[in-house]
Amino acid sequence: MTSIRERLQAVQASIETAALHAGRSPGSVRLLAVSKTQPPAALRAAFEAGQHSFGENYLQEALHKQAELTDLAIEWHFIGPIQSNKTALIAQNFSWVHGVDRRKIAERLAAARPAAAPPLQICLQVNVSGEASKSGLAPQAVVELAQAIQSLPRLRLRGLMAIPAPETDFGRQRAQFARIHRIFQQLQQQGFALDTLSIGMSADFAAAIAEGATIVRIGTAIFGPRP
Ligand SMILES: *Cc1c(COP(=O)(O)O)cnc(C)c1O
Repeated sequence: MTSIRERLQAVQASIETAALHAGRSPGSVRLLAVSKTQPPAALRAAFEAGQHSFGENYLQEALHKQAELTDLAIEWHFIGPIQSNKTALIAQNFSWVHGVDRRKIAERLAAARPAAAPPLQICLQVNVSGEASKSGLAPQAVVELAQAIQSLPRLRLRGLMAIPAPETDFGRQRAQFARIHRIFQQLQQQGFALDTLSIGMSADFAAAIAEGATIVRIGTAIFGPRP
């Protein structure tokens, strides 16, 4: 049995290798540990091995783990689909939200973010796989939502997120990530101060790093198969 600590170290080493391969500094890629369906003890083990940012998909499950882990200084990222009746609890209990793809959701998050908390860090989810994916903005709709979010209080637009259709071939993985990388660079050229490209999971993070990922969201490779 390989421990979470060992798998975490192996993932960190692979991230470094992929970054160096791409001519990037290993420090430019952050690891977000995706802990959906994993028990609190698994998050605690990863935290003790040095992993402090965790991504959760399901609100109730995440709130339960947060209550169990109040003694740990975890940075919580919400990475699941966002239903509008969940926006208040998301805005109150997370530092980052990765899957914003509608103005209505952004407005509700802004309205519910406590004034005393730092701004909620936002990534817009972009659909780069066409019909193969249901969630995410169409690429041509990104600028408009980015502008809308910049005018909302208590939100800070950090960048883009995507979940491309699964591909096993590195070149095909990379081609999908290249699409969102291009959109990201175009926004930067238009003056949006973005620093975050949230792309890459266990099976494709090396390709994502080759296309500029600054956050890779990795679950299975750290925690093993989900229960
Ligand atoms: C589950 C999930 C991940 C992690 O997937 P793995 O293949 O287990 O690494 C990353 N991002 C999102 C949005 C997810 O839902």
